[in-house]
Amino acid sequence: MEELKIYRNSRNFAPIDVAKGLDLTTGEKVNADDIDPNYERLPKCQYCKNFKTNKEKIGLGWCQADKKNPFIAYPDMCAVTCGMYNDE
Ligand code: SF4
Repeated sequence: MEELKIYRNSRNFAPIDVAKGLDLTTGEKVNADDIDPNYERLPKCQYCKNFKTNKEKIGLGWCQADKKNPFIAYPDMCAVTCGMYNDE
């Protein structure tokens, strides 16, 4: 999946609503889909090696961190607190 370097995918962004938020570097209000000049990837399931995309249902996938018990995951799900996140 292509990595879009936009605010909604950046650690440098605090959402206000679905479309707007704050640039945490400048404190200015920005659109979530604008390019972030200070982009730093926000951990999300889609960047994790344990994530597998469901090719039949767009926007869905599986977390396979536990091979015996995979569960439904969303590519856009924030993974900041996931202890199994692995993007290396
Ligand atoms: S290990 Fe965590 S970050 Fe990775 S796919 Fe599973 S739930 Fe998402």
